Amino acid sequence: MSKANNPLNDPKNRAPETQLVHGGVHRSGFNETSEAIFMTSGYSYPSSQHAEDLFLNKLPGAHNYSRFANPTVDVFQERMALLEGAEAGRAFATGMAAVTNAVMSQVRAGDHIVAARALFGGCRYVVEDFMPRFGVSSTLVDGRDPKNFEAAMRPNTKVVFIETPANPTLELVDVAAVARIAHAGGAKLIVDNVFATALYQHPLKLGADLVTYSATKHIDGQGRSLGGIVLGSKDLITGDIHTLLRQTGPSISPFNAWIMLKGLETMALRVNQMTASAAKIADYLADHPKIARVAYPHHRSHPQYELGKRQMSQGSSLIAIEVKGGRAEAFKLSDALAVILISNNLGDAKSLITHPATTTHARFTEEVRLESGVTQGLLRLSVGLENADDLIADLDYALDQL
Ligand SMILES: *Cc1c(COP(=O)(O)O)cnc(C)c1O
Repeated sequence: MSKANNPLNDPKNRAPETQLVHGGVHRSGFNETSEAIFMTSGYSYPSSQHAEDLFLNKLPGAHNYSRFANPTVDVFQERMALLEGAEAGRAFATGMAAVTNAVMSQVRAGDHIVAARALFGGCRYVVEDFMPRFGVSSTLVDGRDPKNFEAAMRPNTKVVFIETPANPTLELVDVAAVARIAHAGGAKLIVDNVFATALYQHPLKLGADLVTYSATKHIDGQGRSLGGIVLGSKDLITGDIHTLLRQTGPSISPFNAWIMLKGLETMALRVNQMTASAAKIADYLADHPKIARVAYPHHRSHPQYELGKRQMSQGSSLIAIEVKGGRAEAFKLSDALAVILISNNLGDAKSLITHPATTTHARFTEEVRLESGVTQGLLRLSVGLENADDLIADLDYALDQL
């Protein structure tokens, strides 16, 4: 009858909403309810022998320097690992630091990467431009058909990198099918899961080896700070990922990790609400005569609707919109909005709209943009926490101006 026998003592027996509030908490001697911010770079030791033992890894869980060990960052990592169903995680200063670390930790000169070409701009830069400077070649494929990954695999392929749904087109990649192809070729599958969030898609269960997040997006979710995280097996995280983080230092500030913890407490509430509104807005837009096409993974018009239903439990808080009349009409629509803000961030409490062709994808040629689905009429809408009917009224007014 004692609390000790309560099955809910095991955090794994708790639902995601409960894990997001309590996961990973290690209280200090003051027994604070809200997680403490350990704003410290280093730690002092009771003796020289203690310091030596610590540096010889004889004191597991002890902290020696906040570049790679900090109690507030630990809570964030543990809470995310719990939610993801991962054995471990390591937090980073930004989502791009997390992606770059995940990829670089698995390759060396002479290796090869296969990636879907529909990627967030920074991720595409890392695999297409940055890694080749160090002798790691890459092949970008149309991610919609798993066979394209199979055809691009080489004996030296060590990493397959995908993002699904992809930014900004919301194209999908079949995670389970690509995991089988990667593993058959001896490569690791890394999935950038920002759009679906840990609530709606579980890449590790589908066979991925590492999952990355820009915590800047839904995890903070209130537009305050940058952050990132990589999650996976204990072996990969405490080995390759931890070593590169420790030795190269793209570390998150304890303060920003604390902001992420506060974000996580409300993440399920926020993302569920934003997603319910997004589904409603996608229905509205799909029937509008001035819209050529919407891409929303759980809308019947999505060309990969079946896959979306299979690997995502919800359609996400993002919608891609193809406006009839190209760039001029897309600009006109964005410029007539009163509530939805023009901004390239996403996953925020505030609804944000962006024209990828002239912002996030401006550095590419028109040809490259078109092969990744970034047309001049494309807008990406990140649905926020405002009243859904207000958002529809805002879009309706702006569409009337076209
Ligand atoms: C924003 C984003 C990133 C990069 O994250 P930052 O925190 O901005 O560095 C990576 N991948 C995807 C899909 C993103 O949306």
